Amino acid sequence: MIHKNSLKLYGGVIILKYDVIIVGAGPSGIFTALELLRQKENTKILMIEKGRSIDKRHCPKEETKVCVNCKPYCHITTGFSGAGAFSDGKLSLSYEVGGELPKLISSMKAQEYIEYTDKIYLEFGADIKVEGLENNEEIKDIRRKAIEAGLKLVDCPIRHLGTEKAQEIYFKIQNHLLDAGVEILFNTVVKDLFIEEGEAKAVKVANSSKKEDEKILYGEKIVIAAGRKGADWLKDMCIKHEIDHTAGTVDIGVRVEVRNEIMERVNDVLYESKLIGYPEPFRNKVRTFCQNPGGFVSQENYDNDLAIVNGHSYKEKKSQNTNLAILSSHNFSEPFNQPIEYGKKVAELVNMLGNGKILVQRYGDILDGKRTWQHELEQTNVKYTLPDAVAGDLTSAIPYRPMMNIINFIMAMNTVVPGFASRETLLYGPEIKFYSNKINMDEKFKTNIKNLHCLGDASGWTRGLMMASVMGVLMGRVIGEENK
Ligand SMILES: Cc1cc2nc3c(=O)[nH]c(=O)nc-3n(C[C@H](O)[C@H](O)[C@H](O)COP(=O)(O)OP(=O)(O)OC[C@H]3O[C@@H](n4cnc5c(N)ncnc54)[C@H](O)[C@@H]3O)c2cc1C
Repeated sequence: MIHKNSLKLYGGVIILKYDVIIVGAGPSGIFTALELLRQKENTKILMIEKGRSIDKRHCPKEETKVCVNCKPYCHITTGFSGAGAFSDGKLSLSYEVGGELPKLISSMKAQEYIEYTDKIYLEFGADIKVEGLENNEEIKDIRRKAIEAGLKLVDCPIRHLGTEKAQEIYFKIQNHLLDAGVEILFNTVVKDLFIEEGEAKAVKVANSSKKEDEKILYGEKIVIAAGRKGADWLKDMCIKHEIDHTAGTVDIGVRVEVRNEIMERVNDVLYESKLIGYPEPFRNKVRTFCQNPGGFVSQENYDNDLAIVNGHSYKEKKSQNTNLAILSSHNFSEPFNQPIEYGKKVAELVNMLGNGKILVQRYGDILDGKRTWQHELEQTNVKYTLPDAVAGDLTSAIPYRPMMNIINFIMAMNTVVPGFASRETLLYGPEIKFYSNKINMDEKFKTNIKNLHCLGDASGWTRGLMMASVMGVLMGRVIGEENK
């Protein structure tokens, strides 16, 4: 769909020119477009998304029950609304959760814009209920136990969209943007950036499945919102075009699955328990992340064929289990400072032992120093919700440091949630978060390249739906103000 005003003739060559080109239609890109339209209605916006429109996104696993490793990309993480569409849709309503954006813009501003952005989600039909605001005495008691275990409990109200509802909301947003004249090129991948004399001018695009049909599209401003999956590509762009960045963090971890009965109290009181610890002997930051009461463990596939575990929960359809991630954060300096590469090697090793599938092991087997066998998974109360997970030995693949951090953190969690460290607790791996490469920017998201901005998870500054959306809103405001 090409905007008629985009066609300009320069010496007989048709050049497509936009006010703003947004690379990636995940929450950060979407909210940039939404806010930009609110600021300046006639802004000529082009979104370029390598996946499909939300109504055409479909994970074949619903029928096949096993991941068929879709090519050229995984529908769970790619397409309109990005990793948000099939996500659990938990909007974290505290600036303390979702990444380091508050360090760039201040905690107060982050909180203010979380509230603003939350209202937009409500306008598009999000559930009005917020979890984690009641039960103060119960929360106090959980916090007391966390203190006893040496863990910090982060207060974070949650608005839970649910996977199916999240898709409905993003579908409405997609239609709203199209109706408002935003052009969205689906199935189109941005291959390269054109930067001349320190200024971003254009992007080179191609069809996601075919190599031919390369085109150059010009934009006054180029906003890269390519998500976690685009982090690798953005790293290449940073090196090629000398975009200022610093090596970031990689989170290495596992997805833990227990019976709902074990997590009942924290699920009821908090919905999501956000706990942080620095277990001995390494004292790396270890935290819980993305808790799914009654949820399902899932698999996402990266373009380089890595199988990574994740989890989500539906609003209606429930399992008997709760899953959550336990992530151990790692930084590197000299002589090696490539956290993405490190995370990939760990994931490759775990995938190799799982024959390309997600590996699962019982906590008790880890303590006993033995692998888990497939038939042993059937012997316990926890019925595993990822049917094609392969029983095996995570400890043969996850390095000593993160593995010890995870084991010790699970033991500490047992004080807060009795039964959490039981022998039948399931650990799935690898759960790796490739945040890496933090793009150096000011509070207006300006990089060292004029007219080039980077947003959301790809920028290294966010790690969740709400914070990525907030960054988009702020981007929309900044560009809107500049164009007034
Ligand atoms: C299974 C799952 C569950 C999750 N659950 C939650 C949750 O409950 N709560 C929460 O807060 N967060 C959750 N997250 C994380 C959340 O989805 C992300 O933090 C958020 O989507 C980041 O938004 P983004 O806009 O930065 O990037 P993304 O949502 O990743 O979107 C980036 C988009 O850019 C596209 N793209 C990438 N490179 C290119 C390119 N070169 N050319 C064109 N297009 C490109 C991608 O296809 C993608 O659609 C979950 C993630 C997953 C995978």
